[in-house]
Amino acid sequence: MLPVEVATAVDQLVHTSVDVDYVPKNETTAAHWTYEPSEEVSFHRLIFRHNFCAGARGCWTETNAIRSGPAGHFRHSNECAYPMSTLGKPEAMRFINGWAREHGITPLGRWGAWEHMNSDVAVGLALDAAASVCRA
Ligand SMILES: Cc1cc2nc3c(=O)[nH]c(=O)nc-3n(C[C@H](O)[C@H](O)[C@H](O)COP(=O)(O)OP(=O)(O)OC[C@H]3O[C@@H](n4cnc5c(N)ncnc54)[C@H](O)[C@@H]3O)c2cc1C
Repeated sequence: MLPVEVATAVDQLVHTSVDVDYVPKNETTAAHWTYEPSEEVSFHRLIFRHNFCAGARGCWTETNAIRSGPAGHFRHSNECAYPMSTLGKPEAMRFINGWAREHGITPLGRWGAWEHMNSDVAVGLALDAAASVCRA
């Protein structure tokens, strides 16, 4: 059980959720991703796997869960998709991570930092942390 001050700090952290929906149609494009700024559609980007993944068919949309309607075909809902950088976040994270370190926990990655990072950065930070633990 987390101490109440730590749990209160955790409660201040905000994330968004996304729905990733399958569309059974191969679009004619050489793009891997297309970002869609139009507010007329719910999704904000499309991924065309057939352009980089042999044998893939169709494409996928990514939509903020608060904007998506009912699922059409297959849908993957990702509850913890994007950590939000809110005003109170730096202080809450300093407090949570300070407590974690005192208890032998090394905060790592997207959710350990509550930062919007891609997988290359998450893996790089994990390798650095492993090297530093092995040196200690
Ligand atoms: C929709 C979407 C698209 C993305 N596209 C790209 C992309 O194209 N390229 C790219 O580089 N990055 C992309 N990213 C970002 C990438 O997914 C993250 O940067 C990466 O997964 C972060 O790795 P991580 O190890 O920090 O966290 P995660 O991959 O989220 O791993 C954390 C793990 O901890 C587990 N976990 C959580 N709580 C507990 C618990 N209490 N006990 C045990 N296990 C727990 C979770 O189930 C999860 O498996 C995308 C992210 C999203 C959401």
